[in-house]
Amino acid sequence: MGVALLSAKRSKDPSTQVGACIVNDKNKIVGAGYNGLPIGCHDDDFPWDKDGKFLETKYPYVCHAELNAILNNIGMDLQGCKIYTALFPCNECTKAIIQSGIREVVYLSDKYAGNDIFKNSRISSKKIFLTDQSVLLSKIHFLPHPYPFPQVEKGNTTLYKSRCSLLTTHHSLIFAPCKF
Ligand SMILES: [Zn+2]
Repeated sequence: MGVALLSAKRSKDPSTQVGACIVNDKNKIVGAGYNGLPIGCHDDDFPWDKDGKFLETKYPYVCHAELNAILNNIGMDLQGCKIYTALFPCNECTKAIIQSGIREVVYLSDKYAGNDIFKNSRISSKKIFLTDQSVLLSKIHFLPHPYPFPQVEKGNTTLYKSRCSLLTTHHSLIFAPCKF
C-alpha cells in the first residue's frame, strides 16, 4: 500500500490523488499507476475541474489509478494477483480488475460510498464484485503515515461495517488487516 500511496503523489489532479499497485503471489510488484491523463495528453491541455459541463471537467479524460496499474503492468499475466488501491474501485476499474484476473483488492478508503455523485459508481462496482465472487475485498485498517484520507474511520470496524452492510453480509468477503 505504501507504493500505491507513493504513486499517488505523481498525480497532477489538484483535488484527488489516487495510486494503485499490483503484486503477484510472491508480493513482487508487477504494476503501478496513478490517476492521470493518457500518454501524450499534456496536463496543461485538459481540464482538472470537477464541476461544470462534462467536457470541461476531468472525468472524460482521466484514466484511474487501478486501470493505469493494470495497463502499466510489466507484461505478465495478472491472474491471481493482488491490487492495492487507496480508494475503493469505481465501476469502470472494477470491470478491468475482474477481466484482468486480479483476485484480491486491498483498499484504504471507500470515501465515495456516500457521495451524491459517485455513490452509484460504487454501488455498481460492489454489485459486480458480489456477483462475480472471484475477487477478495480487503479493507486495510493499518494506516500508513501520512494518511491521505482523514475521513476514513481509523480502525473503527463497526462503523465501517454499518456503512457497508452489503459487503459485510456477504460471507465470501473478508475484512482483514493488511499484511506486509
Ligand atoms: Zn476507477
